[in-house]
Amino acid sequence: MNEPIIEFKDEKHAYECLEEWQRRLYLSDWIIRVSFEKIDKDRAAEIYTEHSQKSAKIRFNILTPERKESEPVRYCAEKIMVHELLHILFDIVRYDQSSLAENELELAQHIKTEFMARSLIMVKYDLDPDWFKNI
Ligand SMILES: [Zn+2]
Repeated sequence: MNEPIIEFKDEKHAYECLEEWQRRLYLSDWIIRVSFEKIDKDRAAEIYTEHSQKSAKIRFNILTPERKESEPVRYCAEKIMVHELLHILFDIVRYDQSSLAENELELAQHIKTEFMARSLIMVKYDLDPDWFKNI
């Protein structure tokens, strides 16, 4: 059976995935760059968006065995790509992380985004929610 992309083979592979999901999420008119870097935070990736320019940059954290293990769900590069792209659609408001209330809002937004990303992957590949269990 066709399965989601677990890891990108190279940059070209990541851009193919990006292009497909940009189309699916009506983001084809955005200019989006992808990079693989060492991010000092415990997250798989992060995105910087410039809504006025319709541009964004997705930084994937370099995948180490520790990084792969620290994921709360099974590591899936395609799901992470979808998650980051959904942030473009959902996060119109920029949160000021110095305030506790806004931190909470950002977290809530992130959780919604994560479940939507998983749902889209499930639908594309006809997967059960259990597929995401970190085994
Ligand atoms: Zn997020």
